[in-house]
Amino acid sequence: MEFSVKILGNSGALPAFGRHPTAQVVNHDDRLFLVDCGEGTQMRCDDFKVKKGRIHHIFISHLHGDHFFGLLGLITSYQLLQRVHPLHIYGPPKLWDIIDLQLSPWGIPPCYELVFHPTQADAPMLLYEDALLTVETIPLNHKIACTGFLFKEKPKERNMRKDQIEKYGIHFTDIPAIKKGGDFKTSDGRIIPNRELTLDPMPPRSYAFCSDTAYNEAMVEQLKGVNLLYHEATFTQEFEERAKKTFHSTAQQAALMAQKVQAQRLLLGHFSAKYPVLDPILKEAKVVFERSSLALEGEVFGVE
Ligand SMILES: [Zn+2]
Ligand SMILES: [Zn+2]
Repeated sequence: MEFSVKILGNSGALPAFGRHPTAQVVNHDDRLFLVDCGEGTQMRCDDFKVKKGRIHHIFISHLHGDHFFGLLGLITSYQLLQRVHPLHIYGPPKLWDIIDLQLSPWGIPPCYELVFHPTQADAPMLLYEDALLTVETIPLNHKIACTGFLFKEKPKERNMRKDQIEKYGIHFTDIPAIKKGGDFKTSDGRIIPNRELTLDPMPPRSYAFCSDTAYNEAMVEQLKGVNLLYHEATFTQEFEERAKKTFHSTAQQAALMAQKVQAQRLLLGHFSAKYPVLDPILKEAKVVFERSSLALEGEVFGVE
C-alpha cells in the first residue's frame, strides 16, 4: 500500500534560488492530502503531475504567509473547475476569517462545500480518521501558534495463512474473525490457536511534518519511533542565534530530534535564502543523523 510524500516547495519565508514556499502532498493508499499551501502551490501541482481534483483535505500549519498564501488561488481554481466534492481545510481559527474575507466580494458561496476544522496549538488533537489512517496535530514551538501533522496508519489485521485454510477446512465466513486475532474451532471441536493460522502484519507506518519550529523537546514523546520525520532546517549552526530568535531550527537540531525520536529517516526543509546550495545543511545533519535527506522539490519519499 502506497504511503509517500511528494515535495512541492521547500523554501523558507523568502523564495530563493528556484525554491518555492512550503507545500507537500501525502499519498496514502492513493488518497491525497495537501500539507501547507505556500504561494504558487497549484502551479507546482501541475509541474509535478499532482491531480488537484483528488485533494479533499488540506492541512495548514500556521498563518505565516509562506505556508498558506497559495490557498485562496487553489480555492478559486476549484470554483472555476466546477469542483463537486467538499473541501476540508484544517488550520488555525483565524484562517477561516481570512478565507471568508477574501471570498466575500464574490457575493455567492463557492459551488462546492468548504468545511473548516479549526486547530489548537497547545495539545495534540485528532483531526482526521478513516479505516486506515489518523492525522493528529503536533504542537510546535514557533513565533505564532503553529502545529505540525502526524499521519499514522492504524494497526493492520493479521495475515491469513493460505495453507492453514485448506488444512483445517476454514470457511471464508470465519476468516474475518481470525484476521482480527481470534482462534478457530474445528468441526471435531479442537481449538487451533491464532498464531498457527496467521502471520504478523506489517507494522503501521507514520509520517511527521514539523514546520516551523525551534528545537522542541516537548514533541519527543508523541513522535517516538516515527518512520519518516520532516523537520525544518532553516539554518546551519553558524546562525544558531538567528534560529533561536526567529523560532526556527538548525540542521544539527533537526538531526538531534530525529535521533531522539528514533526516526527511520529524516527529511530536511524550509531552507533560508542565505543558502544558494544546500550541501552545508545536509552535511551538518548527517554528522548527527546519517539517514538524513534534503526535501528536494519534485522528489517523492516513501514512508517505510
Ligand atoms: Zn515558514
Ligand atoms: Zn513560520
